[in-house]
Amino acid sequence: MKIGIPKETFPDERRVAAVPQTVAALRKLGYEVLLQQGTGSLAGWDDAHYAEQGAQLVASRQEVFAQADVVLQVRSFGANPNALNDLDLLRQGQTVVGFCEPLSEGATMKEVAARGVNLLAMELIPRTTRAQSMDALSSMATVAGYKAVLLAAEAVNKMFPMLMTAAGTIRPARVFVVGAGVAGLRAIATARALGAVVEAYDVRPAVKEEVESLGARFLELGLETQEAQTAGGYAKAFDEAFYAKQRELMAKALVENHVVITTAAVPGKKAPVLLTEPMVKDMQPGSVIVDLAAERGGNCELTQPGKTIQVHGVTIIGPVNLPSTIPMDASLMYARNLANLLTHLTRDGKLQLDREDDIVGGLLVCRDGEVVHPRVREALDLPPREAPAEKE
Ligand code: NAD
Repeated sequence: MKIGIPKETFPDERRVAAVPQTVAALRKLGYEVLLQQGTGSLAGWDDAHYAEQGAQLVASRQEVFAQADVVLQVRSFGANPNALNDLDLLRQGQTVVGFCEPLSEGATMKEVAARGVNLLAMELIPRTTRAQSMDALSSMATVAGYKAVLLAAEAVNKMFPMLMTAAGTIRPARVFVVGAGVAGLRAIATARALGAVVEAYDVRPAVKEEVESLGARFLELGLETQEAQTAGGYAKAFDEAFYAKQRELMAKALVENHVVITTAAVPGKKAPVLLTEPMVKDMQPGSVIVDLAAERGGNCELTQPGKTIQVHGVTIIGPVNLPSTIPMDASLMYARNLANLLTHLTRDGKLQLDREDDIVGGLLVCRDGEVVHPRVREALDLPPREAPAEKE
C-alpha cells in the first residue's frame, strides 16, 4: 500500500504531515511513501532528506492523490478551504487523515463522504492513555502554549525574571493562565522557566496538583467542580450565569497580573467569554492578553482572530495557527502522532479500519459514502445510524 503526502495548501501553513524519521517508520510498517516535491521545505527538511529515508518524490499533487491509498495531511478537508480543490482528486476507497474541523464543517464532511472516501479526523482522537501517543491536538496545544508565552514576553512592558541589579531590584512579571489544559500547563511551565510568578485557574479541580507541581499557584474561586470534567478528560460547557460569576471572581486576578493567557476551551463549542471590556479597562496599562481561544471566538470579547490590538492601554493578541510558527518541532510531533496512529491501524502491511476499536470509532468521520461519526451526524441533524429497534 502507498502513503501519499501532498503539499499543504492552507495560507501560511508551514507544517508537514511526514518528516524523514516517520518516512522510515512508515516504510518499516510495509508502506511505500510518496511525497510531493518541496513538501517539507518550510518545516526544515528538503527533498533529499526524505529521499534518503526511501521516500519517492513526485512532481504534482494529482500524482500523489492518484497513487496513494492513504493520504496524510496537516490541514485536510474542513480545516482548509483550499482543500475543496482536491475533492475531484479523491478516489473511492481512499483513506485521508488530517485535521478536519469535523464538528463545525459538517457540509464539507458530507461532500467528502459522497466521494466514498474514509476520512479520519485527528481532532477526534480520544483522550485516553492508549491513544496518548496519537493525540495531535495535545501536541499542537503544547507548541501553542509555549509560543503564547514568547508572544506575551515580547509584547509586555516588563521583563519576566526578578533581577537584582546595581540599579536596584526588578520585580518579576506576574502571569495569569486561565484554563490549565495542555496549552495552559505548557504556558505555565514556560512562564516559570522565564522567571515569572504564575497563577492559574481552571474549572476542573483535578488540575490543581499539576499547576502546583509546575511552581504556580492555583487560584481557587470556589466555582471549580468535579462535574466540570467529561469522561474524555475535557471540560463541560456551563451556562451564562456560571461564566458571569467566574468573570466577577476573576476580576481581582486580572488587575494584579501583567500577562493573561487564556486557553479555556470546551470541545465543539464556542469558547466561553471570560474577559469583558470593563475587565480589560481595569487591567494595568502596558499589560498583555494572549487569547489562545481566538480561533473559537476568543475568551476575551475584544479579541480579533489573527490580529494584535491595543484597547485601554492593554495589548490583546489573538493568534491563530501558532503551531505553524514553530514548524519543525510541530511537524515532528504531528508526524509522530500520525505514524503512531498508522502503526496502530496496520496489520500485515494493510490498513484496517475496525470500527469496534475505540480509537478508530473515535476518529472515523466518513466511510462507505456516509458520515458515520455520531457527533458529526448530530451536528448535521442527521439521525443516528443504527436506529433503535422499533417496539412492537
Ligand atoms: P484542553 O481541553 O486541554 O484545555 C482547555 C482547558 O480549559 C481545560 O483544562 C478546561 O477545563 C479549561 N476550561 C474550560 N472552561 C473553562 C473556564 N470557564 N474557566 C477556566 N478553564 C476552563 O485544550 P488545549 O488543548 O489546552 O487547548 C486550549 C486552547 O488552545 C483551545 O481553545 C485550542 O483551540 C487552542 N489552541 C490554539 C492554537 C492557536 O494557534 N491559537 C493552537 C493550539 C490550541
